[in-house]
Amino acid sequence: MNQHHIQVTVSRPAFAANIRYLRDQVAPAQLCVVMKANAYGHGLEALAPTAVAAGAHYIGICTNPEAATIRRLGLDVKLLRLRMALPEELEESIDQLQIEEQVGSMEVADYLSTAGIRRGKEIPVHINIDTGMGRSGFFTTELEQIQKVCRLPGLRIVGVMTHFATADGQDLAMTKKQLAAFNHLCHHLHDFLPDGVLTHTHNSAATIRLPAQRNHLVRVGAACYGVRTSQAFSNPSELKPVMSVKTRVAQVRSVPAGSTIGYGNLYTTQRDSLIASLPVGFGEGYPRSLFNKGIVLIHGHRCPVVGRVSLNITTVDVTDLPQTVRWGDEAVLIGCQGQAEITFEELADKFQSVHTEINLMAGLMNQVSYL
Ligand SMILES: *Cc1c(COP(=O)(O)O)cnc(C)c1O
Repeated sequence: MNQHHIQVTVSRPAFAANIRYLRDQVAPAQLCVVMKANAYGHGLEALAPTAVAAGAHYIGICTNPEAATIRRLGLDVKLLRLRMALPEELEESIDQLQIEEQVGSMEVADYLSTAGIRRGKEIPVHINIDTGMGRSGFFTTELEQIQKVCRLPGLRIVGVMTHFATADGQDLAMTKKQLAAFNHLCHHLHDFLPDGVLTHTHNSAATIRLPAQRNHLVRVGAACYGVRTSQAFSNPSELKPVMSVKTRVAQVRSVPAGSTIGYGNLYTTQRDSLIASLPVGFGEGYPRSLFNKGIVLIHGHRCPVVGRVSLNITTVDVTDLPQTVRWGDEAVLIGCQGQAEITFEELADKFQSVHTEINLMAGLMNQVSYL
């Protein structure tokens, strides 16, 4: 059955072009394309082959089912888990999924070491260092513990990593501090690490903003989907958005000045107005908090959302449009129309979130078409 009321489109060519661009920019560093959360809502299964064909060295995932999807596709790519695993996840990972796991405590190190010895192999792992993110990993003060991990049998250290807390903020001072702490620690680990070990620190924001300090591998999510994580910086123009979201006009009505629109009477027309209703709302993932704030493109013009966003209906003011808006006309929620554009970042800023939340909702709640 076709879905007529909303078109969520994901462009594989755009995704591939972004990855090729990033891969060339970061070389000789390797590229881990982050595809957790169903590829930020874009569709893991549909996009993983594209990521590998475009040159991803690693795919970053969080869950075992995500890894299983990639293994089922038979893709020749390394997998990196982007968080600490649970014991049950580790068992499957070692025996079936071959995910490169993070080690951030002696407990997990010992667990994996024992598992490796028992199987007569070396399990590839990445040592996770907390330089300020505050979520997981070894503290930088635990040098002796970390050195002990490097000597455990049954493990092969393939990476040492940290994650930045504020690489998308206005001020990069903390990021630089984290980086210095990480590099300092790696220096003290040097004699304990095998040749060719991959140090990695950079997410999208850091990859774009601190190009000189990229280390051996970068872990890039947002930038591969053509979005940026904050207003503090711009993406290079080569990175293009991969997802767009469009709908159609379900009705247009003239209403007199003084009319209230939608639940809670949160908007009252100040003049005689033309109000278009669109057949999508927060049930389709259009954020409810965009009431009286969102913008929709119709006929290439920016039209304000007026009143509450309902579960499946959103109302916009089209009074100022030069041409008559008709039943069935296209309305762009995210993407381009004529010269006008609404980006995920713009919407995210308006409802004080990040693009990923909108990407996710659009991808999860709707059927996605792939170009
Ligand atoms: C999600 C994640 C990334 C990617 O972050 P982006 O800002 O989307 O590039 C990188 N590293 C880790 C550990 C992550 O969890």
